[in-house]
Amino acid sequence: SQDNQKPWRVLVTGGSGIVGKGLQCVVKEMGGAKEGEEWLFLSSKDINLLNLENTREVFEKFQPTHVIHLAAMVGGLFMNMRQNLDFLRNNLTINDNVLLASHEIGVTKVVSCLSTCIFPHNGPFPLDESMIPFGPPHDSNYGYAHAKRTVAILNRGYYEQHGRRYTAVIPTNVFGPHDNFNFADGHVMSGIIHKTYIAKRDKTPLVVLGSGTPRRQLIYSVDLGRLILWSLRDYDEIDPVILCGDVESEVSVKEAAEAVKKAMDFDGEIVFDKSKGDGVFKKTASNAKLRKYLPDFKFTPFDQALKETCDWFVANYDSARK
Ligand code: NDP
Repeated sequence: SQDNQKPWRVLVTGGSGIVGKGLQCVVKEMGGAKEGEEWLFLSSKDINLLNLENTREVFEKFQPTHVIHLAAMVGGLFMNMRQNLDFLRNNLTINDNVLLASHEIGVTKVVSCLSTCIFPHNGPFPLDESMIPFGPPHDSNYGYAHAKRTVAILNRGYYEQHGRRYTAVIPTNVFGPHDNFNFADGHVMSGIIHKTYIAKRDKTPLVVLGSGTPRRQLIYSVDLGRLILWSLRDYDEIDPVILCGDVESEVSVKEAAEAVKKAMDFDGEIVFDKSKGDGVFKKTASNAKLRKYLPDFKFTPFDQALKETCDWFVANYDSARK
């Protein structure tokens, strides 16, 4: 096969995002790349995935044998609610362009990144890979979710019609260095970390929105990078696989806030603003399929991963996205 003839040339879209940076850490700093392999991490400055011609040009120039497709139009809850149509159309276009350009140039394997928001929002929990088509995703981000669901359908089509091994992974909520730490439009953990930083600096209480009871399954971006690399090398199914820790590692928002308090050495008070909504109570996913392949995979302990993330944020406060 092509795999045995040429050294791999891996093109990563979305290489500047939190997931892309986690993968870069694994590939460049932790020895994940094999000898002779070339890795190209692209941001929107290097390629405009909304434009098919530009996508083809960059692919033709680099001649990837493998593609990890992380790029997406992403945003917080409110941006999604306001712009569901834009999220749908832009992400459909980006995904279609990446897979078509990959197919045209003969890319052996593509791993695309989905998200647990593609699942029916009512469960049943824990969610597993078979449930994707069973019910509608949450109304708040149906555009983004349906664009992501379509990737799994495209992958099936490229396999059935052209024999292509294009697959996808489904991570739960990610945290780590290089996240978007904006607390209006960012993620749960990065928001709490940024607020704790300010509370510590200004000697004010840490105010967490909502009751603190919703539960979240978090994955450290570096662990996710290791698992995406595994999926590129060793996961041979076309159907997607959920990437997350074991169900017992799910934490409540309250537990997460207390862990950040400890990691950032903040000695003030945590206040839960119950006048604000809680969002989805839980979206627990099962990693049984992943564990079937990797029964011994060790996730970084939550406190250690959180400490690394907080230390990164403090050290990079001026330049971090926020
Ligand atoms: P980020 O917002 O951190 O990064 C998005 C990346 O996509 C950036 O590299 C950005 O480039 C690039 N990008 C966006 N639009 C375009 C475009 N038109 N052309 C080229 N590149 C573009 O996102 P994440 O790292 O969080 O997300 C990566 C993937 O992981 C996404 O597919 C997301 O859906 C998925 N995911 C993320 C989760 C999370 O909790 N973060 C959870 C589950 C799934 P630039 O930096 O130049 O803007």
